[in-house]
Amino acid sequence: MNARPPKPRITVIGTGYLGATQAVCMAHLGFEVVAVDVDPVKVDALASGRLPFFEPGLDTLLVETLATGRLRFTTDFADAAAFGEVHFVCVGTPQSSGSDAADLRYVDAAFSELARRITGRALIVGKSTVPVGTAERLAGMVAELTGGEVEVAWNPEFLREGFAVEDTLHPDRLVFGVASAEAEQSLRDAYAPLLEEGVPVVVADLATAELVKVAANSFLATKISFINAMAEVCEASGADVSLLARALSYDDRIGGRFLKPGLGFGGGCLPKDIRAFRARAEELGVSAAVTFLHEVDQINLRRRSRTVDLVRELAGPDLHGVRVAALGAAFKPDSDDVRDAPALDVARLLYLEGASVVVYDPKANANAHRAYPDLDYADSLAEAVNEADVVLLLTEWAEFVSAAPEDMGVLVAHRRIVDGRGALDVERYRAAGWEYRALGRPAEV
Ligand code: NAD
Repeated sequence: MNARPPKPRITVIGTGYLGATQAVCMAHLGFEVVAVDVDPVKVDALASGRLPFFEPGLDTLLVETLATGRLRFTTDFADAAAFGEVHFVCVGTPQSSGSDAADLRYVDAAFSELARRITGRALIVGKSTVPVGTAERLAGMVAELTGGEVEVAWNPEFLREGFAVEDTLHPDRLVFGVASAEAEQSLRDAYAPLLEEGVPVVVADLATAELVKVAANSFLATKISFINAMAEVCEASGADVSLLARALSYDDRIGGRFLKPGLGFGGGCLPKDIRAFRARAEELGVSAAVTFLHEVDQINLRRRSRTVDLVRELAGPDLHGVRVAALGAAFKPDSDDVRDAPALDVARLLYLEGASVVVYDPKANANAHRAYPDLDYADSLAEAVNEADVVLLLTEWAEFVSAAPEDMGVLVAHRRIVDGRGALDVERYRAAGWEYRALGRPAEV
Protein backbone atom coordinates (compact mmCIF):
# COMPACT_ATOMS: atom_id res chain seq x y z
CA MET A 1 0.00 0.00 0.00
CA ASN A 2 1.30 3.50 -0.86
CA ALA A 3 2.18 5.69 2.13
CA ARG A 4 0.16 8.88 2.21
CA PRO A 5 2.32 11.84 1.13
CA PRO A 6 3.43 14.18 3.94
CA LYS A 7 1.22 17.23 4.37
CA PRO A 8 3.44 20.31 4.52
CA ARG A 9 2.21 23.22 6.63
CA ILE A 10 1.20 25.97 4.22
CA THR A 11 1.29 29.75 4.40
CA VAL A 12 -0.20 32.13 1.88
CA ILE A 13 1.21 35.67 1.68
CA GLY A 14 -1.28 38.20 0.33
CA THR A 15 -5.00 37.55 0.65
CA GLY A 16 -6.49 39.30 -2.36
CA TYR A 17 -8.44 37.52 -5.13
CA LEU A 18 -5.65 34.99 -5.66
CA GLY A 19 -4.32 34.56 -2.12
CA ALA A 20 -7.65 34.27 -0.32
CA THR A 21 -8.74 31.64 -2.85
CA GLN A 22 -5.46 29.73 -2.51
CA ALA A 23 -5.63 29.80 1.32
CA VAL A 24 -9.25 28.68 1.53
CA CYS A 25 -8.84 25.95 -1.11
CA MET A 26 -5.65 24.55 0.47
CA ALA A 27 -7.44 24.36 3.84
CA HIS A 28 -10.39 22.75 2.08
CA LEU A 29 -8.00 20.13 0.68
CA GLY A 30 -6.96 19.25 4.24
CA PHE A 31 -3.81 21.34 4.81
CA GLU A 32 -3.08 23.49 7.86
CA VAL A 33 -2.90 27.04 6.50
CA VAL A 34 -1.85 30.42 7.87
CA ALA A 35 -2.60 33.37 5.58
CA VAL A 36 -0.90 36.75 5.98
CA ASP A 37 -1.74 40.18 4.63
CA VAL A 38 -0.39 43.63 5.42
CA ASP A 39 -3.96 45.00 5.40
CA PRO A 40 -5.43 44.51 8.89
CA VAL A 41 -8.97 45.35 7.71
CA LYS A 42 -8.83 42.53 5.17
CA VAL A 43 -7.34 40.12 7.70
CA ASP A 44 -10.06 40.95 10.28
CA ALA A 45 -12.80 40.45 7.71
CA LEU A 46 -11.43 37.12 6.51
CA ALA A 47 -10.78 35.90 10.05
CA SER A 48 -14.40 36.57 10.92
CA GLY A 49 -15.66 34.75 7.83
CA ARG A 50 -16.43 37.77 5.64
CA LEU A 51 -14.97 37.77 2.14
CA PRO A 52 -13.84 41.34 1.31
CA PHE A 53 -14.65 40.85 -2.39
CA PHE A 54 -17.20 38.94 -4.47
CA GLU A 55 -16.27 35.50 -5.77
CA PRO A 56 -18.96 32.86 -6.30
CA GLY A 57 -18.73 30.01 -3.79
CA LEU A 58 -15.67 31.33 -1.98
CA ASP A 59 -17.71 32.99 0.79
CA THR A 60 -19.30 29.74 1.95
CA LEU A 61 -16.06 27.77 1.56
CA LEU A 62 -14.31 30.38 3.73
CA VAL A 63 -16.83 29.90 6.53
CA GLU A 64 -16.63 26.11 6.20
CA THR A 65 -12.83 25.97 6.29
CA LEU A 66 -12.56 28.41 9.22
CA ALA A 67 -14.84 26.08 11.16
CA THR A 68 -12.41 23.17 10.62
CA GLY A 69 -9.73 25.08 12.56
CA ARG A 70 -7.24 24.42 9.73
CA LEU A 71 -7.22 28.04 8.46
CA ARG A 72 -6.30 31.26 10.20
CA PHE A 73 -5.42 34.79 9.10
CA THR A 74 -2.80 37.13 10.54
CA THR A 75 -0.75 40.25 9.84
CA ASP A 76 2.24 38.71 11.63
CA PHE A 77 5.05 37.55 9.33
CA ALA A 78 6.97 36.00 12.23
CA ASP A 79 3.98 33.74 12.90
CA ALA A 80 3.87 32.65 9.25
CA ALA A 81 7.65 32.20 8.99
CA ALA A 82 7.70 29.97 12.06
CA PHE A 83 4.65 27.99 10.93
CA GLY A 84 5.11 27.24 7.25
CA GLU A 85 7.08 24.68 5.32
CA VAL A 86 5.75 25.76 1.94
CA HIS A 87 5.01 29.50 1.61
CA PHE A 88 2.90 30.68 -1.36
CA VAL A 89 3.44 34.34 -2.26
CA CYS A 90 0.28 35.79 -3.85
CA VAL A 91 0.78 39.57 -3.52
CA GLY A 92 -0.09 42.06 -6.26
CA THR A 93 2.16 42.96 -9.18
CA PRO A 94 0.36 46.01 -10.60
CA GLN A 95 1.55 48.21 -13.45
CA SER A 96 4.10 50.77 -12.23
CA SER A 97 2.87 54.33 -12.24
CA GLY A 98 4.51 56.13 -15.14
CA SER A 99 5.70 53.02 -16.99
CA ASP A 100 4.47 49.75 -18.48
CA ALA A 101 6.70 47.63 -16.26
CA ALA A 102 5.40 45.53 -13.35
CA ASP A 103 5.76 47.07 -9.92
CA LEU A 104 7.63 44.38 -7.99
CA ARG A 105 7.91 46.12 -4.66
CA TYR A 106 5.20 43.99 -2.99
CA VAL A 107 6.75 40.71 -4.18
CA ASP A 108 10.20 41.84 -3.11
CA ALA A 109 8.87 42.89 0.31
CA ALA A 110 6.98 39.62 0.85
CA PHE A 111 10.03 37.48 -0.03
CA SER A 112 12.38 39.48 2.17
CA GLU A 113 9.93 39.72 5.12
CA LEU A 114 9.66 35.93 5.08
CA ALA A 115 13.29 35.11 4.37
CA ARG A 116 14.53 37.34 7.20
CA ARG A 117 12.37 35.42 9.66
CA ILE A 118 12.51 31.79 8.52
CA THR A 119 14.92 29.77 10.64
CA GLY A 120 14.72 26.15 9.34
CA ARG A 121 14.34 24.62 5.90
CA ALA A 122 11.46 25.87 3.78
CA LEU A 123 10.32 26.57 0.23
CA ILE A 124 9.04 29.98 -0.86
CA VAL A 125 6.81 29.60 -3.93
CA GLY A 126 5.91 32.63 -6.01
CA LYS A 127 2.42 32.53 -7.52
CA SER A 128 2.17 36.20 -8.49
CA THR A 129 2.61 37.00 -12.17
CA VAL A 130 6.10 38.42 -12.64
CA PRO A 131 8.51 39.35 -15.43
CA VAL A 132 10.81 36.51 -16.46
CA GLY A 133 14.02 36.62 -14.39
CA THR A 134 12.33 37.74 -11.16
CA ALA A 135 12.43 34.30 -9.52
CA GLU A 136 16.15 33.89 -10.09
CA ARG A 137 16.82 37.34 -8.65
CA LEU A 138 14.64 36.57 -5.61
CA ALA A 139 16.35 33.18 -5.16
CA GLY A 140 19.66 35.04 -4.89
CA MET A 141 18.24 37.44 -2.33
CA VAL A 142 16.69 34.63 -0.29
CA ALA A 143 19.92 32.58 -0.34
CA GLU A 144 21.83 35.57 1.01
CA LEU A 145 19.31 36.18 3.78
CA THR A 146 18.97 32.55 4.85
CA GLY A 147 22.39 31.05 4.21
CA GLY A 148 20.97 28.66 1.59
CA GLU A 149 18.43 26.92 3.84
CA VAL A 150 15.44 28.30 1.97
CA GLU A 151 14.73 27.64 -1.71
CA VAL A 152 12.58 29.53 -4.20
CA ALA A 153 10.16 28.00 -6.73
CA TRP A 154 7.61 29.50 -9.11
CA ASN A 155 4.10 28.11 -9.55
CA PRO A 156 2.14 30.52 -11.76
CA GLU A 157 -1.59 30.77 -11.27
CA PHE A 158 -4.20 30.51 -14.03
CA LEU A 159 -7.46 30.93 -12.12
CA ARG A 160 -10.22 33.07 -13.59
CA GLU A 161 -12.17 35.45 -11.38
CA GLY A 162 -15.77 34.25 -11.30
CA PHE A 163 -14.52 30.61 -11.43
CA ALA A 164 -11.71 30.91 -8.87
CA VAL A 165 -12.73 28.02 -6.61
CA GLU A 166 -13.41 25.63 -9.47
CA ASP A 167 -10.16 26.59 -11.21
CA THR A 168 -8.12 26.15 -8.02
CA LEU A 169 -9.61 22.80 -7.07
CA HIS A 170 -9.70 21.50 -10.66
CA PRO A 171 -6.99 23.32 -12.61
CA ASP A 172 -6.28 22.48 -16.29
CA ARG A 173 -2.64 22.04 -15.34
CA LEU A 174 -0.05 22.85 -12.71
CA VAL A 175 3.29 24.38 -13.60
CA PHE A 176 6.19 23.89 -11.20
CA GLY A 177 9.21 26.09 -11.84
CA VAL A 178 11.96 24.58 -9.71
CA ALA A 179 15.73 24.53 -9.36
CA SER A 180 16.05 21.24 -7.45
CA ALA A 181 14.45 17.83 -6.96
CA GLU A 182 13.68 18.77 -3.31
CA ALA A 183 11.68 21.81 -4.40
CA GLU A 184 9.77 19.69 -6.92
CA GLN A 185 8.97 17.13 -4.21
CA SER A 186 7.74 19.84 -1.80
CA LEU A 187 5.38 21.13 -4.50
CA ARG A 188 4.21 17.59 -5.27
CA ASP A 189 3.42 17.16 -1.57
CA ALA A 190 1.60 20.49 -1.39
CA TYR A 191 -0.51 19.60 -4.44
CA ALA A 192 -0.84 15.87 -3.73
CA PRO A 193 -4.67 15.91 -3.60
CA LEU A 194 -4.83 17.47 -7.09
CA LEU A 195 -2.10 15.28 -8.55
CA GLU A 196 -3.95 12.21 -7.26
CA GLU A 197 -6.95 13.42 -9.28
CA GLY A 198 -4.80 13.32 -12.40
CA VAL A 199 -4.19 17.05 -12.91
CA PRO A 200 -1.33 17.29 -15.42
CA VAL A 201 1.87 18.90 -14.16
CA VAL A 202 4.64 20.50 -16.16
CA VAL A 203 7.94 20.67 -14.29
CA ALA A 204 10.17 23.39 -15.66
CA ASP A 205 12.99 25.76 -14.77
CA LEU A 206 12.14 29.02 -13.02
CA ALA A 207 12.27 31.21 -16.13
CA THR A 208 10.00 28.95 -18.20
CA ALA A 209 7.45 28.77 -15.39
CA GLU A 210 7.32 32.57 -15.13
CA LEU A 211 6.97 32.85 -18.92
CA VAL A 212 4.13 30.32 -19.20
CA LYS A 213 1.82 32.71 -17.41
CA VAL A 214 2.61 35.80 -19.46
CA ALA A 215 2.59 33.75 -22.66
CA ALA A 216 -0.89 32.38 -21.82
CA ASN A 217 -2.25 35.84 -21.08
CA SER A 218 -0.64 37.27 -24.21
CA PHE A 219 -2.25 34.56 -26.32
CA LEU A 220 -5.70 35.12 -24.80
CA ALA A 221 -5.45 38.89 -25.18
CA THR A 222 -4.34 38.44 -28.79
CA LYS A 223 -7.29 36.18 -29.58
CA ILE A 224 -9.73 38.74 -28.20
CA SER A 225 -8.06 41.61 -30.03
CA PHE A 226 -7.88 39.58 -33.23
CA ILE A 227 -11.64 39.29 -33.45
CA ASN A 228 -12.02 42.92 -32.38
CA ALA A 229 -9.64 43.93 -35.18
CA MET A 230 -11.95 42.01 -37.53
CA ALA A 231 -14.83 43.98 -35.99
CA GLU A 232 -13.11 47.22 -37.03
CA VAL A 233 -12.82 45.93 -40.61
CA CYS A 234 -16.47 44.85 -40.50
CA GLU A 235 -17.51 48.33 -39.38
CA ALA A 236 -15.68 49.85 -42.35
CA SER A 237 -16.99 47.35 -44.89
CA GLY A 238 -20.53 46.64 -43.76
CA ALA A 239 -19.79 43.04 -42.80
CA ASP A 240 -21.08 41.43 -39.60
CA VAL A 241 -18.43 40.30 -37.10
CA SER A 242 -20.82 38.11 -35.13
CA LEU A 243 -21.43 35.93 -38.21
CA LEU A 244 -17.73 36.04 -39.06
CA ALA A 245 -16.82 34.84 -35.52
CA ARG A 246 -19.41 32.08 -35.68
CA ALA A 247 -18.10 30.84 -39.02
CA LEU A 248 -14.50 30.90 -37.75
CA SER A 249 -15.39 29.09 -34.54
CA TYR A 250 -16.46 25.91 -36.38
CA ASP A 251 -12.83 25.49 -37.43
CA ASP A 252 -11.43 23.49 -34.57
CA ARG A 253 -7.93 24.76 -35.28
CA ILE A 254 -9.28 28.19 -34.28
CA GLY A 255 -12.06 27.40 -31.80
CA GLY A 256 -14.78 29.68 -30.51
CA ARG A 257 -13.51 30.44 -27.02
CA PHE A 258 -12.15 33.94 -26.56
CA LEU A 259 -13.33 34.72 -30.08
CA LYS A 260 -16.20 36.91 -28.88
CA PRO A 261 -16.25 40.36 -30.44
CA GLY A 262 -17.12 43.18 -28.05
CA LEU A 263 -15.75 45.72 -25.66
CA GLY A 264 -12.59 43.73 -25.05
CA PHE A 265 -10.54 42.66 -22.08
CA GLY A 266 -9.73 44.37 -18.80
CA GLY A 267 -9.22 43.50 -15.17
CA GLY A 268 -6.20 43.19 -12.92
CA CYS A 269 -4.30 40.77 -15.19
CA LEU A 270 -4.41 40.84 -18.99
CA PRO A 271 -3.80 44.57 -19.63
CA LYS A 272 -0.97 45.00 -17.15
CA ASP A 273 0.56 41.61 -17.96
CA ILE A 274 0.92 42.28 -21.69
CA ARG A 275 2.38 45.72 -20.96
CA ALA A 276 4.85 44.32 -18.43
CA PHE A 277 5.81 41.61 -20.93
CA ARG A 278 6.70 44.24 -23.52
CA ALA A 279 8.69 46.19 -20.96
CA ARG A 280 10.63 43.06 -19.95
CA ALA A 281 11.21 42.01 -23.57
CA GLU A 282 12.73 45.43 -24.20
CA GLU A 283 15.12 44.96 -21.27
CA LEU A 284 16.08 41.57 -22.69
CA GLY A 285 16.75 43.12 -26.12
CA VAL A 286 13.93 41.18 -27.82
CA SER A 287 11.25 43.87 -28.03
CA ALA A 288 10.62 43.04 -31.73
CA ALA A 289 9.31 39.60 -30.66
CA VAL A 290 6.35 41.13 -28.85
CA THR A 291 5.73 44.40 -30.68
CA PHE A 292 2.38 42.91 -31.70
CA LEU A 293 1.24 43.19 -28.07
CA HIS A 294 1.24 46.97 -28.46
CA GLU A 295 -1.31 46.57 -31.27
CA VAL A 296 -3.29 44.08 -29.16
CA ASP A 297 -3.51 46.71 -26.43
CA GLN A 298 -4.43 49.52 -28.84
CA ILE A 299 -7.15 47.50 -30.60
CA ASN A 300 -8.58 46.71 -27.18
CA LEU A 301 -8.62 50.36 -26.08
CA ARG A 302 -10.15 51.53 -29.41
CA ARG A 303 -13.26 49.42 -28.72
CA ARG A 304 -14.05 51.76 -25.85
CA SER A 305 -14.07 54.92 -27.99
CA ARG A 306 -16.00 53.05 -30.70
CA THR A 307 -18.69 52.27 -28.11
CA VAL A 308 -18.94 56.00 -27.35
CA ASP A 309 -19.30 56.60 -31.14
CA LEU A 310 -22.28 54.23 -31.20
CA VAL A 311 -23.95 56.24 -28.44
CA ARG A 312 -23.32 59.38 -30.50
CA GLU A 313 -24.87 57.72 -33.56
CA LEU A 314 -28.00 56.97 -31.56
CA ALA A 315 -28.38 60.11 -29.45
CA GLY A 316 -25.77 62.66 -30.51
CA PRO A 317 -23.68 64.14 -31.87
CA ASP A 318 -23.74 66.33 -28.78
CA LEU A 319 -24.01 64.16 -25.69
CA HIS A 320 -24.50 66.99 -23.18
CA GLY A 321 -27.44 66.15 -20.97
CA VAL A 322 -28.10 62.81 -22.71
CA ARG A 323 -29.10 60.31 -20.04
CA VAL A 324 -27.16 57.07 -20.38
CA ALA A 325 -27.78 53.87 -18.41
CA ALA A 326 -24.48 51.99 -18.11
CA LEU A 327 -25.28 48.37 -17.32
CA GLY A 328 -22.18 46.89 -15.75
CA ALA A 329 -18.98 48.19 -14.20
CA ALA A 330 -16.99 45.03 -13.41
CA PHE A 331 -14.48 43.90 -16.04
CA LYS A 332 -16.52 40.73 -16.46
CA PRO A 333 -19.66 39.15 -15.04
CA ASP A 334 -19.58 37.28 -11.71
CA SER A 335 -16.83 39.54 -10.41
CA ASP A 336 -16.75 42.83 -8.50
CA ASP A 337 -13.31 43.69 -9.89
CA VAL A 338 -13.21 47.07 -11.64
CA ARG A 339 -9.45 47.23 -12.23
CA ASP A 340 -8.97 48.47 -15.81
CA ALA A 341 -12.62 47.64 -16.51
CA PRO A 342 -13.74 48.52 -20.06
CA ALA A 343 -17.30 49.10 -18.79
CA LEU A 344 -16.30 51.73 -16.32
CA ASP A 345 -13.95 53.34 -18.79
CA VAL A 346 -16.81 53.77 -21.29
CA ALA A 347 -18.98 55.27 -18.53
CA ARG A 348 -16.15 57.69 -17.72
CA LEU A 349 -15.66 58.68 -21.40
CA LEU A 350 -19.38 59.38 -21.77
CA TYR A 351 -19.36 61.45 -18.57
CA LEU A 352 -16.42 63.47 -19.93
CA GLU A 353 -18.49 64.16 -23.08
CA GLY A 354 -21.21 65.70 -20.91
CA ALA A 355 -23.63 62.77 -20.77
CA SER A 356 -25.51 62.14 -17.57
CA VAL A 357 -24.37 58.60 -16.75
CA VAL A 358 -26.08 56.23 -14.32
CA VAL A 359 -24.12 53.06 -13.59
CA TYR A 360 -25.57 49.85 -12.23
CA ASP A 361 -23.63 46.67 -11.52
CA PRO A 362 -25.07 43.85 -9.40
CA LYS A 363 -21.82 43.44 -7.41
CA ALA A 364 -19.30 46.12 -8.38
CA ASN A 365 -21.11 49.38 -7.57
CA ALA A 366 -19.10 49.98 -4.38
CA ASN A 367 -15.72 49.41 -6.06
CA ALA A 368 -16.81 51.50 -9.06
CA HIS A 369 -17.93 54.34 -6.81
CA ARG A 370 -14.52 54.32 -5.09
CA ALA A 371 -12.80 54.51 -8.49
CA TYR A 372 -15.17 57.09 -10.04
CA PRO A 373 -17.14 58.95 -7.38
CA ASP A 374 -18.37 61.54 -9.94
CA LEU A 375 -20.63 59.07 -11.76
CA ASP A 376 -24.16 58.38 -10.54
CA TYR A 377 -24.99 54.88 -9.31
CA ALA A 378 -28.33 53.10 -9.26
CA ASP A 379 -29.37 50.29 -6.92
CA SER A 380 -31.22 48.28 -9.55
CA LEU A 381 -31.53 47.71 -13.27
CA ALA A 382 -34.95 49.38 -13.27
CA GLU A 383 -33.61 52.48 -11.52
CA ALA A 384 -30.65 52.69 -13.91
CA VAL A 385 -32.72 52.56 -17.11
CA ASN A 386 -35.45 54.84 -15.81
CA GLU A 387 -35.89 57.74 -18.32
CA ALA A 388 -32.68 56.72 -20.13
CA ASP A 389 -32.05 58.12 -23.61
CA VAL A 390 -29.63 55.28 -24.36
CA VAL A 391 -29.03 51.98 -22.55
CA LEU A 392 -25.57 50.37 -22.78
CA LEU A 393 -24.82 46.73 -22.04
CA LEU A 394 -21.20 46.88 -20.86
CA THR A 395 -20.76 43.76 -18.68
CA GLU A 396 -22.76 40.68 -19.68
CA TRP A 397 -24.24 39.79 -16.28
CA ALA A 398 -27.02 37.19 -16.61
CA GLU A 399 -29.42 39.71 -15.06
CA PHE A 400 -28.88 42.07 -18.00
CA VAL A 401 -28.83 39.46 -20.74
CA SER A 402 -32.08 37.92 -19.53
CA ALA A 403 -33.89 41.25 -18.93
CA ALA A 404 -37.05 41.54 -21.05
CA PRO A 405 -36.71 44.33 -23.64
CA GLU A 406 -40.50 44.81 -23.45
CA ASP A 407 -40.33 45.56 -19.70
CA MET A 408 -37.29 47.79 -20.00
CA GLY A 409 -38.95 49.60 -22.90
CA VAL A 410 -41.67 50.90 -20.61
CA LEU A 411 -39.12 52.55 -18.31
CA VAL A 412 -36.77 54.31 -20.74
CA ALA A 413 -37.25 57.68 -22.42
CA HIS A 414 -36.06 56.25 -25.77
CA ARG A 415 -35.72 52.64 -26.82
CA ARG A 416 -32.09 52.73 -27.90
CA ILE A 417 -29.51 50.17 -26.88
CA VAL A 418 -25.80 49.66 -27.49
CA ASP A 419 -24.85 46.02 -26.99
CA GLY A 420 -21.18 46.33 -26.00
CA ARG A 421 -20.84 42.59 -25.53
CA GLY A 422 -22.81 41.23 -28.48
CA ALA A 423 -24.81 39.30 -25.91
CA LEU A 424 -28.39 40.39 -26.51
CA ASP A 425 -31.12 38.91 -28.67
CA VAL A 426 -31.18 41.49 -31.44
CA GLU A 427 -34.42 40.19 -33.01
CA ARG A 428 -36.24 40.42 -29.72
CA TYR A 429 -35.04 43.97 -29.08
CA ARG A 430 -36.01 45.07 -32.60
CA ALA A 431 -39.41 43.41 -32.22
CA ALA A 432 -39.91 45.37 -28.99
CA GLY A 433 -39.22 48.62 -30.85
CA TRP A 434 -35.62 49.20 -29.84
CA GLU A 435 -32.96 50.79 -32.02
CA TYR A 436 -30.07 48.32 -31.59
CA ARG A 437 -26.36 48.85 -32.21
CA ALA A 438 -23.49 46.45 -31.57
CA LEU A 439 -19.76 46.63 -32.13
CA GLY A 440 -18.69 45.23 -35.49
CA ARG A 441 -22.22 44.86 -36.86
CA PRO A 442 -24.07 46.97 -39.41
CA ALA A 443 -26.80 49.28 -38.06
CA GLU A 444 -29.48 47.11 -39.71
CA VAL A 445 -28.86 43.46 -39.08
P1 NAD B 1 -5.00 41.76 -5.04
O1 NAD B 1 -4.62 43.19 -5.18
O2 NAD B 1 -6.44 41.37 -4.99
O3 NAD B 1 -4.30 41.14 -3.75
C1 NAD B 1 -2.97 41.41 -3.38
C2 NAD B 1 -2.92 41.34 -1.84
O4 NAD B 1 -1.55 41.38 -1.41
C3 NAD B 1 -3.61 42.51 -1.14
O5 NAD B 1 -4.54 42.02 -0.21
C4 NAD B 1 -2.46 43.26 -0.45
O6 NAD B 1 -2.86 43.89 0.76
C5 NAD B 1 -1.48 42.13 -0.21
N1 NAD B 1 -0.09 42.55 0.01
C6 NAD B 1 0.61 43.52 -0.62
N2 NAD B 1 1.87 43.56 -0.15
C7 NAD B 1 1.96 42.57 0.78
C8 NAD B 1 3.03 42.09 1.58
N3 NAD B 1 4.25 42.62 1.52
N4 NAD B 1 2.76 41.08 2.41
C9 NAD B 1 1.54 40.52 2.50
N5 NAD B 1 0.50 40.93 1.74
C10 NAD B 1 0.71 41.94 0.88
O7 NAD B 1 -4.29 41.03 -6.27
P2 NAD B 1 -4.71 39.64 -6.97
O8 NAD B 1 -5.73 39.89 -8.02
O9 NAD B 1 -4.96 38.64 -5.93
O10 NAD B 1 -3.35 39.30 -7.73
C11 NAD B 1 -2.19 38.87 -7.04
C12 NAD B 1 -1.21 38.33 -8.06
O11 NAD B 1 -1.75 37.19 -8.69
C13 NAD B 1 -0.85 39.28 -9.19
O12 NAD B 1 0.49 39.09 -9.56
C14 NAD B 1 -1.77 38.84 -10.30
O13 NAD B 1 -1.27 39.19 -11.57
C15 NAD B 1 -1.76 37.35 -10.09
N6 NAD B 1 -2.95 36.65 -10.59
C16 NAD B 1 -4.19 37.13 -10.32
C17 NAD B 1 -5.31 36.45 -10.80
C18 NAD B 1 -6.70 37.00 -10.59
O14 NAD B 1 -7.61 36.51 -11.27
N7 NAD B 1 -6.91 37.97 -9.73
C19 NAD B 1 -5.15 35.26 -11.55
C20 NAD B 1 -3.85 34.77 -11.75
C21 NAD B 1 -2.76 35.47 -11.29
